[in-house]
This record gives sequence, C-alpha cells and structure tokens, in this order.
Amino acid sequence: MSLLDHFSTQLDVLKQQGDLRQFTSNIQQDRYIIIHDQKMLNLASNDYLGLGSNIHLREQFFDETPNTARWMSSSSSRLLTGNFSEYEQLEASLSQAFHGRSALLFNSGYHMNIGILPALADSKTLILADKLIHASMIDGIRLSTAKYVRYRHNDLIHLTQLLQKYHADDAFERIIIVTESIFSMDGDETDLAELVRIKKQFSKVMLYVDEAHAIGVRGEHGLGCAEQYGVMGEIDLLVGTFGKAMASIGGYLICHQVIRDYLINSMRPLIFSTAQPPICMAWTDFIFKKVLHLNAERQHLQQLSQYLQQAVQAKGFDCPSTSHIVPVIIGESTKTVGKAKALQNAGFYIMPVRPPTVPQNSSRLRISLTAQIQQTDLHQLIDLL
Ligand SMILES: *Cc1c(COP(=O)(O)O)cnc(C)c1O
Repeated sequence: MSLLDHFSTQLDVLKQQGDLRQFTSNIQQDRYIIIHDQKMLNLASNDYLGLGSNIHLREQFFDETPNTARWMSSSSSRLLTGNFSEYEQLEASLSQAFHGRSALLFNSGYHMNIGILPALADSKTLILADKLIHASMIDGIRLSTAKYVRYRHNDLIHLTQLLQKYHADDAFERIIIVTESIFSMDGDETDLAELVRIKKQFSKVMLYVDEAHAIGVRGEHGLGCAEQYGVMGEIDLLVGTFGKAMASIGGYLICHQVIRDYLINSMRPLIFSTAQPPICMAWTDFIFKKVLHLNAERQHLQQLSQYLQQAVQAKGFDCPSTSHIVPVIIGESTKTVGKAKALQNAGFYIMPVRPPTVPQNSSRLRISLTAQIQQTDLHQLIDLL
C-alpha cells in the first residue's frame, strides 16, 4: 500500500458526498465571469465596489508610478530592511482617516487574525467570541493560550450575561470580545453602538471587530460600520482587509499606539514573514484615497441590496441580511447545489454554501452584490428563485 492511498481514499469520500473542492479557471470582465466559455453575471465576487475589475484605475496607477518606485519585493520583514516608505505612507493615510489613531499593516487578513490574538491574549485573558466568526479568528484563538467561550450569534444579551459572570472572576485580567461587523454568511450585522455601550460597563474589556466586509462599503468615507455608527474611536482593535472592496491585498489594525508597539515586538506573522511588496502598498494607498470619495457607489450598493433583500423575502425565503451579502437559505444541500447549477446555466454565477461552512440544514445560495450591478440585471434572477 502506498503512503498516498490514505489521502486518495479521503478524497474519494469527499467526492462521493459531493463535497470535493477544486479550483476552476475563469476569465473576468467587468461584472461578468466566464467559466468553460459560459459568460455569467458575477454574483460571487468580493470586489464590492467594482474597483478590482476597473482597468482605468490600474492604468492611472501605473502611469503615476515610475519604474524606480515599482518595487516588486520588500525582500525581508519590516523589522529588518523591509520597511519601505510606501508602508509608512499607507499607515499615515489610514491614521489620518481614522482620526489620528495608530495603524499597523499585515500581509493578509488571515495573518492579521492569526497573529494579533495570540500576541495579546495570554492565560489571564478570556476571549468571548461570536458563534459565527470567520475561520481566521478561530485559528487565532486556537493559537493563543487564552480561555475562550462562544456566545450565540449576534446575541448581545447572551454576551452581557457572560460578561457579568466572568468579569468578577479574578482568574482573568482581561476580556477580549471578538466579532465581525458584517457577517460573511448571513450578511447580517452587529449593533456596534450597543456593543460599545455594553463594553463601557466593564473595565477589563477590550473590543476586537473585523470589518472585512464593511471597509469601503459602509460609512460616509467608506471606513466601515464603525464610522457609520459613530464608534470609530471606541473599538480597541478595529481590523479589516484590503482584499475585498479595496481591490488589493493585506490587513490593517487601527488601535492605540501602545498596542501597535507591543505587536511589533510580539506578533509572530508580522516578525517572521517577508513584508508585502512595496508596489502593493502603493496601490492600496492609491485605492484607499479613491475609496474615501465613493459615496455614490456606496449608496447605489445599499439601494440594490435592499431591493434584493426584499425580493428574496417576498419569494418566501428567510433573509437575515441587512447588507450587500444576501443569502437565499434553502436548507437541504443537494437541493441547494441543484438550484445553484440551474441559476448558473441561466447566466448567474452564484455559489452554493453547505455545512460545515454554515450550520446543518441551512445550506444556501450566497449572493454577493457589487456596485457595478444594476437593478435590471437582477429581474430574471428573482423570477428564477
Ligand atoms: C476574507 C476575510 C478575512 C481574510 O482576509 P484575507 O485578506 O483574505 O486573508 C478575515 N476576516 C474576515 C471576516 C474575512 O471575511
């Protein structure tokens, strides 16, 4: 028996269950995606503002960036020789936009979430995490030595009960609440104003909020739900990613300068990984400055999202979404996969999401809208639901 048999048997099992994952080659054109020669409206993209597929932005960026500034590698971590001026420029832009708080950059949102929590949370820390947080934060919690307890999804009453129980416990010097603002599977959102109000009642508590799906999309300047709800200065650890609406790559943290200095001295994915190429930093800064002024796109996306949420509800589906991520919850997995296939055949690229990514019997179609899509693009889709 070959050493590989074990792995190929596991793959066969996945295949039989219809759960085998594979890469699909694709070509993207504006709001369309072409797979196996079939052109479909792309309703599975995280390019929420359509900036990633905008060729004019790329042209402008490269026209403005001379070859001497096109560094394609930083060749080391920022603590060695990798701290190019492009890093400091982007951090300065972020800091200015976020009312003077400190900013720190990471190679990806995944690095950020697996790095910050283990660096900050020791055995005297309790982490209280929403039941549906992203895998990257779960991995971060697992890498830390903290005790952790999950609270029911978006249930701030349950969270308050846990705070009342654990805050008095002398075993814990710190409690970190970990959540997302807009959640990636239900498209629903945390009441950040209420969360901040709760946190303020407990002196040991810090807030960690991941705005991966909200940065660029929410708030007057696109700075996320924290801006929208006026609590930008009150979330101790405000994180997000540049890989979605920001059309780039990387993660950021907005925090107090003490936390920034501490992470530079303790966060392993920051210390032991080569920093992103300076050209990526320059591009992110270029996009970030544009995003501050894209209010019309944000409003369009908001209106389009409300239109689709209402249409999905009118069709008799449960729709928890209050955002541009709109799930159509079908329940049974094979039925969901069949429905997704039929919609793809009709020209709508929509992906099915099944357990374990979502709870049992809540398989769904996950529609993610972008600012490039028009209401009329959705009429036929809604009929087909
Ligand atoms: C996508 C995502 C991440 C990971 O960010 P990357 O930059 O893609 O590594 C982290 N958190 C949440 C909530 C996400 O949706």
